[in-house]
Amino acid sequence: IFTLITVGTMNAQKMPHLDKTKPIEERIDLLMKQMTLEEKVGQMNQYNGFWEVTGPAPKGGTAELKYEHLRKGLVGSMLTVRGVKNVRAVQKIAVEETRLGIPLIIGFDVIHGYKTLSPIPLAESASWDLEAIKKSAAIAADEASASGINWTFGPNVDVANDARWGRVMEGAGEDPYLGSKIATARVKGFQGETIADLAKVNTIAACAKHFAAYGYVEAGLEYNIVDISNSKLYNSVLPPFKATVDAGVRTFMNSFNTLNGVPATGNVFLQRDILKGKWKFDGFVISDYASIREMIAHGYAKDEEDAALKGVVAGSDMDMESYLYVAKLVGLVKEGKVKEALVDDAVRRILRVKFELGLFDDPYRYCDENREKATIGNKANNDGVLDMAKKSIVLLKNDKNLLPLKKLGQKIALIGALANDKNSPLGSWRIASDDNTAVSVLEGMQQYKDNKLTFEKGGDLTVGKISFLDEVVFNTTDRSGFEAAKKAAAAADVVVMVLGEHGFQSGEGRSRTDLNLPGLQQELLEEVYKVNPNIVLVLNNGRPLSIPWAAEHIPAIVEAWHLGTQTGNAVAQVLYGDYNPSGKLPMSFPRNVGQVPIYYNKYSTGRPTNTDKNVFWSHYTDVEKTPQFPFGFGLSYTTFDYKNLKLNKTAFAKGEPVQISVEVTNSGNYDGKEVVQLYIHDDYASIIRPIKELKGFELVNLKKGETKTVSFTLTDKELGFYDNDGNYLVEPGTFKIMVGGSSDKGLESGFELK
Ligand code: BGC
Repeated sequence: IFTLITVGTMNAQKMPHLDKTKPIEERIDLLMKQMTLEEKVGQMNQYNGFWEVTGPAPKGGTAELKYEHLRKGLVGSMLTVRGVKNVRAVQKIAVEETRLGIPLIIGFDVIHGYKTLSPIPLAESASWDLEAIKKSAAIAADEASASGINWTFGPNVDVANDARWGRVMEGAGEDPYLGSKIATARVKGFQGETIADLAKVNTIAACAKHFAAYGYVEAGLEYNIVDISNSKLYNSVLPPFKATVDAGVRTFMNSFNTLNGVPATGNVFLQRDILKGKWKFDGFVISDYASIREMIAHGYAKDEEDAALKGVVAGSDMDMESYLYVAKLVGLVKEGKVKEALVDDAVRRILRVKFELGLFDDPYRYCDENREKATIGNKANNDGVLDMAKKSIVLLKNDKNLLPLKKLGQKIALIGALANDKNSPLGSWRIASDDNTAVSVLEGMQQYKDNKLTFEKGGDLTVGKISFLDEVVFNTTDRSGFEAAKKAAAAADVVVMVLGEHGFQSGEGRSRTDLNLPGLQQELLEEVYKVNPNIVLVLNNGRPLSIPWAAEHIPAIVEAWHLGTQTGNAVAQVLYGDYNPSGKLPMSFPRNVGQVPIYYNKYSTGRPTNTDKNVFWSHYTDVEKTPQFPFGFGLSYTTFDYKNLKLNKTAFAKGEPVQISVEVTNSGNYDGKEVVQLYIHDDYASIIRPIKELKGFELVNLKKGETKTVSFTLTDKELGFYDNDGNYLVEPGTFKIMVGGSSDKGLESGFELK
């Protein structure tokens, strides 16, 4: 006890930054005064988890090097350290063995839940339910923080419209307006309403990624270059990032791609001019994994030293796993090639977030084994992700009213390997949950006991090992399961087929050139259809698929994505009508992959329609140019009618709010929820504007027969756009508006802006 008290007293005198009563900026000054250049650079260094405490201290290779660096105070952060026990062990080294005892910030890819998994982010986005999305992020933060984590590498706010790119599953889809709202909800879910909430023990710092334009990799090929116009950059890519800054996001991650010839990681324009300059972001920027080093392979940096220099000059504050800042920065400063002020700025930003998280006040505040035990996988969290999963489901087709299934006496054949899969529905990005399992669709449906449910796999979907690091290989030869599936289907009243992508077929490093049902699934579907066409197709996927045959022939289609831990319960409750689906697509579904990129907020050509009835208009000769299922589309078990679209005036002065109202009636036989969507079109402008742009939406609960009036207001914030220099313009002219339950149709009106 005596020693402890002595050390404590000494600390308070020698370490005035530990004085909680002082303002954070002053505490940073006090700490930085004591730091050597090496220690400062150490704060800018992040290592991947390398040591499980259950084993001995690492010997040899990079693990030993990392261990040595940690003990010397040359590591500011670690990622992917699993569980309180391990976090406590590395934190203890940082706090108790290094000269200044600066705590580590512990990062983790908490992308859609920590252990209890919610739907993949793209699926959650289909709910358009900002409160539910915020709550889902808060559940993730609660579990992650209980497990020692204090920083997530999320949300991914990459607007993307190329379904070939596997990482569309991590984002909010193709629209910058919806994307911005969801980005805000996610940041607040992780961090709390204000930055001050970071001091709570169940919140974690968020990270807006990947800055910027990663969603536009050429041909949907992962890690590829990005070449886009300024207009696309300012109007589509940047708005969700700006929204996260406004919501107080504490960190940004840059991206693997180049943007118009310059790697994002070395991009002065993006990180210094826009993010830290124009937007005044005062948190810090982490590189993507080894992206500082990758500037060499890109052909942008000459060597390791040059890569480190270009990274720090461009405002990449922390180096994730390139080992380059820690190896090269001290030398670069000493040689006068990098100003120490740049290092100081980066360190100040990193320390700021550590102070805000309360790590200096109690470095072990996230290390409570009892809380970890009580929180991970508890009932409240499972209930929360189940609610989110139900809200994420989109009903794409229900022609013969096959849905909802009858609860009594129906003979149902459930078919498809994915129906009995407890791994795939977890989706990609579930690093802490590899040992977890999902409720399968089979298990979910088995709870409805009054039906005669039979299950047939119809053959294996995949062959070989399946993990985050392995390529998924599909069964393309073994049809031996087909006969049993057909027999079960023939004997059933209704067939439910669960088909689609494996959970590890999307995510990082998972680009595709085809968007069909992989393996033998299309063949199985067509074979089963021959014996019983009453099929409900339940899709599992991490990206829009192209399923033209199914869209034409299969009477009922349910988009169930990868819904996480509670998948089977959510799907069963929707199929049996205990939950009326209300999801709307956040990304357009193409008719075939050749239409990609396809998105609703496209531009008009000079020849948009075939007025002359000849071939010289903008179209494909082999397929309609519309999507199979458009952005914003989704059905319900009930129907909604729209009428009386009204504006308060027909002409407005600049700055005057445009007030819009519409009546929505539930005209069907079930209570339900509708996502009422408002789109605008600026008829002519100094830079052409999309044919439609989402500028408002409301979720409305309507009882059977009920009517509600829904109101929207448009202001300069919604009516303007960015020019090619990034200036925001609101130009006079005429606008059209459309209000409806999908981007492809609705009630129309218009107004003039003077
Ligand atoms: C991904 C990031 C992720 C990081 C850390 C990278 O490969 O692009 O999104 O946060 O790894 O796991």
